Amino acid sequence: MRESYLEDSIELDGSIGTCGKDGQSVPVGMLTIKLDRMTVGGTERATARMIQVEVRKWSGTGVDRSFGWQPVSVNDGLRLRDETFRCPECFGKVRLMSASVDPPMAAHGEHFRRNKGCSFGDCFDGAKRIHPSALK
Ligand SMILES: [Zn+2]
Repeated sequence: MRESYLEDSIELDGSIGTCGKDGQSVPVGMLTIKLDRMTVGGTERATARMIQVEVRKWSGTGVDRSFGWQPVSVNDGLRLRDETFRCPECFGKVRLMSASVDPPMAAHGEHFRRNKGCSFGDCFDGAKRIHPSALK
């Protein structure tokens, strides 16, 4: 009986724990559940790291040469410095983060503004949507 109550609480809490700010409204009695959810969220985030972004640049040769969004690895993007980068999934603007040793983290892109409709974000709600201020 007690266990099924806990499971129900987790279900109801679907959006809490994956999106930091919302977690503040969790009642004290559910603190343990909240912490578990955050651990799970952290694991998910690590597997969905944005290691490739898009940058506007020339591609192709001759008459096929065109200017537009092209995929670029975050590592290559970091060398371009002043360019604007966007998320390859939701087209929201992203900043590039260098790799770090502590905490151990590969170079990756992060949204400037959260998009709950992007699986690369830290508060993905399960339904993919273009970023509200997508770059075109
Ligand atoms: Zn995105």
